[in-house]
Amino acid sequence: MATRYGHELSDGRVQCDLCPRACKLRDGQRGLCFVRARADGQIVLTSYGRSSGFCVDPIEKKPLHHFLPGSAVLSFGTAGCNLACRFCQNWDISKSKEVDSLSEEASPRAIATAAKELGAASIAFTYNDPVPFMEFAIDCADAAHELGLRAVAVTAGYICAAPRAELYAHIDAANVDLKAFSEGFYRRVCGAELGAVLETLEYLSHETAVWLEITNLLIPGANDSDAEIDALTSWVIGHLGPDVPVHFTAFHPDFKMTDRPGTPPGTLSRARRIALANGVHHAYTGNVHGTEGASTSCSGCGVRLVERDWYEIRRYRLTDDGRCRSCGTRCPGVFEGPAGTWGPRFRPVHVPEVVAR
Ligand code: SF4
Repeated sequence: MATRYGHELSDGRVQCDLCPRACKLRDGQRGLCFVRARADGQIVLTSYGRSSGFCVDPIEKKPLHHFLPGSAVLSFGTAGCNLACRFCQNWDISKSKEVDSLSEEASPRAIATAAKELGAASIAFTYNDPVPFMEFAIDCADAAHELGLRAVAVTAGYICAAPRAELYAHIDAANVDLKAFSEGFYRRVCGAELGAVLETLEYLSHETAVWLEITNLLIPGANDSDAEIDALTSWVIGHLGPDVPVHFTAFHPDFKMTDRPGTPPGTLSRARRIALANGVHHAYTGNVHGTEGASTSCSGCGVRLVERDWYEIRRYRLTDDGRCRSCGTRCPGVFEGPAGTWGPRFRPVHVPEVVAR
């Protein structure tokens, strides 16, 4: 499909204006994300209506710990990504150049209908970044809203201002992957710019109603020093405030970064301690078992509000509108009624089959 974010340059090329990478394309060329290309003089999205697969999983897996806890979310991705992270943990999807191998075809309406049928409270654009396929993501979000469901974006936040405003007008919650806190890391390891991501975080926090959580994947020897974690979490406090949750998650050697081990659990706990000491109210450890780093505590009285082990809720002490049952302090986030009961299950689904039955 034709897209709106592009303009012609004096040398005859067309520049894509969706993300700061600003690919300049001649007819037939594809951008770095591979799914946007130039055809007939304009920028087109080549992956509309196609997906690499669907799965119903817990909202905690996104990770979102303060958005309809315990609920199920119909998750899917397409192909391609507008970053070039050497450590990509989903590279088979994000770096796919086999657009034809996108095995599932599904319309926005079919996806929303399947989500509703399967008992999900939301749909999520995940596995690969929704930015390069934003027109499809927007249509899916609108279809979800028509059926009373929410829309979630899991993203690196690398997007220009105008399309960012358009995309997030349709999104209810986002987990933004803040990959490090140095321009050098972003340039060298991700082929991107930290400043553009920080702008997205501030935009979401201050100028939208989108519920925001942050993920920081810690890579041994690359972005896991005390000083960098201190700088990152101090920035969060100073620019976003104490109520934006931060998740520290574990790296495993993959793609072009296989020269180092996975993240030790102790690194995640150390990062969480630094975040809490800097004033982040809700800091989590992810991809590891253990209730301490996975649970939500009240910022008013300290009582454990939601006890989790990995993606499973073991105990829930919030009122239906998200207040602490002990002291009444409001827990930041989106809470509606009791916790969901989906549990830690992952259930791959075939959308056309669900819609047909
Ligand atoms: S969205 Fe894709 S084509 Fe457009 S500028 Fe970014 S990487 Fe390039």
